[in-house]
Order: sequence, then structure tokens, then C-alpha cells
Amino acid sequence: MKKVLVVGAGFSGAVVARELAEFGCKVRVIDEREHVGGNCHTQRDTDTDIMVHTYGPHIFNTSIARVWEYVNKYGEWMPYVNRVKAAISSGVYSLPINLHTINQFFKTNLNPTEAQKYIASIASKKYPSPANFEEQALSMIGEELYEAFFKEYTKKQWGCLPTALSASILKRLPVRFDYNDNYYNSIWQAIPKEGYTKIVENILHHENVAVQLNSAYEQDTNSQYDLVIYTGPIDRYFDHCFGKLGYRTVYWEKHYGRGDIQGTAVINYTSSAPLFTRVHEHKHFAPWETHDSSVVFTEFSKETSSGDIPYYPKRLPHDMEILAKYQQEAAKQDKVRFVGRLATYRYLNMDAIISEALNFSDSAKLMLS
Ligand code: UDP
Repeated sequence: MKKVLVVGAGFSGAVVARELAEFGCKVRVIDEREHVGGNCHTQRDTDTDIMVHTYGPHIFNTSIARVWEYVNKYGEWMPYVNRVKAAISSGVYSLPINLHTINQFFKTNLNPTEAQKYIASIASKKYPSPANFEEQALSMIGEELYEAFFKEYTKKQWGCLPTALSASILKRLPVRFDYNDNYYNSIWQAIPKEGYTKIVENILHHENVAVQLNSAYEQDTNSQYDLVIYTGPIDRYFDHCFGKLGYRTVYWEKHYGRGDIQGTAVINYTSSAPLFTRVHEHKHFAPWETHDSSVVFTEFSKETSSGDIPYYPKRLPHDMEILAKYQQEAAKQDKVRFVGRLATYRYLNMDAIISEALNFSDSAKLMLS
């Protein structure tokens, strides 16, 4: 039996562990945290019994059939449509930018064709190939919508000017000329009925998988395994020898209340004041449950310092230079493979992570056979 070590029990690690266990390998999964699920971890709040997404809300959405079928094998998923609101001084608007946002913001009554023409008329023509977040936004929606909904929020969220950020960050969000206010375009969108941690526990539940929590990874154990899959931060694996990769971290202030506090799951505060970026009322992520009390989390973003959890990879030019050096070292590792969000330093959604983990497992099986 081939022996495999998986470092990290988030979605990447769990999926690879399961696939290789089913293939006949003996898999040990270690995680330094006291729970599986990585940043998708969910647990019930002890005061209210509300399912809380401990490291920030995760709304699963995918158009990849293999991934949707896969996650459905491991638990019950409830349909959930992410509808986000943006609060600014002139009112509360619907996100992503859609026909309702446009008509509310410009106090118009445009139909889809008129709105499309209008946005095209105010969008910047200066950037035929937008090179950064700001150029992308100005080309898509023009200055007024950009300033109201993206510029200040992005400065708060990323701690740098939008001109320093990749255009791909904005391309995550659609702009629509109808009244569809679904935040995502994906075919399937859902939240696990019993939380993400239960799904990950179910993925890891296999006779060939042994999970060890509260366990730090020691590289000198590599020699005991045929293959090591490392899903932690790539710079940490190499003791930050080329420097630290830039990440933003987020943190929350928690408040309790009765009834319905803000009337929806997520409200973004897209102006420079207040200093927080958004407020999450977690019971609205589980509309199939009833709770008299409520708990809200006000989210702030800051630069990551030692001990903070890395959330958003900044991927500034300096980071990408460092990353290339780590990647060169990683390629030289004989039996260690780097898989997932932190190990590849990318801003990945859950479905992309699962898809990549499944594809990686396919190639690992060939390697191990
Ligand atoms: N964004 C923004 N205003 C918003 C929502 C998003 O400026 O109200 C920008 C911001 O830079 C953010 C990016 O769009 O980082 C991607 O947004 P998304 O909602 O995908 O971010 P996530 O939920 O992953 O934090």
C-alpha cells in the first residue's frame, strides 16, 4: 500500500485524501487547527445555535458538473441565492450592478437596451486592454458607478490603490442589464444544510484515511511517505527564504440581537466611511432554519502580520516575483506536490479548488500506480 501524507484538511486536502484512499493508498491527513474544513469551517454559535461560517461566509457556486456531483455525494445541499446589497449615503442598492442598481442610482426608468446604451456612453474608451482593476472598472461601468461601489471598497479591502490590482479581481463580478440580482452566474448555488465542516468530515470518512488535528507539519517526516501533498502557504513551506507573499487578512466584530437585525445576509459598505467593508447576518445564510435571536459580524480588512490568517492573495508585481522563486524550488521537490489556494497563492473559489484537487488526484493516481 502506497503511503501518502496530506498537509491541511481544507477542501483541497480532503478531496485528494479521499481520492487517493479510494485508489488504495494509506493516507494520513494532518492539520494544525482543531477542526477540518480549513477556512470553510462552520460551527453552531453556542449562544444562538445559528450556523456560523467561522472564517467568513462561503456560498458555494459552480458550473462544473463534476464538482457539483462530487459535493452532493457527501451531504445535503440547500438551494441558496446570494443577493448582496450595497449601502452608501444616498441609499441602499442592489449588487452586482444590474438594471435595478442603474435605474436607482441614476434615477432613471431605462429598459435593458437603453441601459446598455447608456452605460456604454458613460464607460471610458481610454483603455482598450484594461491593465488593472481601475481601468477595467472604468471601461465596464464608468466613473460614477465605479466611485460609488468599487473604488473605496476596494481600497478598504485590499489596502492599496485599485490601479495596483489585477483586472481579474473585478472580472469576478458580473454587470447585468436586467433585474437579475443573483451575485453569481453559476448554474448551481447552494449551502450545506449541516454546514461545510460536516461535508469535509464526510469526505474524509474512509477506512484508508487517518486524520490528525492540532498537528504541526514537520518536513523531516517526508521520508516516511511515497507522496506528500502540501496545501499550506508555499512561502511558509520554504521558511519564507525569499520573503513573505502579500496577503490581506480579515477580522470581525461580533454583535448579538433579537429578531432580524439587517434584513439580509450581506450588506457591503462601499464608501470610505465606515471603515468596515461589510456586515454579515449569518442566520440568513440558512433560511431553512428559524432563530429568534441573531448574530452579526462586521468585517474589517487589514495587512497580514505574523500570526494572522492569510485570506486574500494580493498578487502585486513584487509578490509575483517572489512566487516565481518559490515555484522554482517547488518544482525541484521530489515527492512533494503543492495543491490548493495557499500552496499556489491564488484567489480561488471553492469549486475551482475542488475541481483542481480532483484533477490533481487523477494525475497522482497515475504517478502512484
Ligand atoms: N468589490 C467592490 N465593491 C463591492 C463588492 C466587491 O469594490 O461591493 C470589489 C472588491 O475589490 C472585491 C472584488 O470586487 O475584492 C471581488 O468581490 P467579491 O465579492 O468576489 O469578493 P469576496 O466575496 O471574495 O471577498
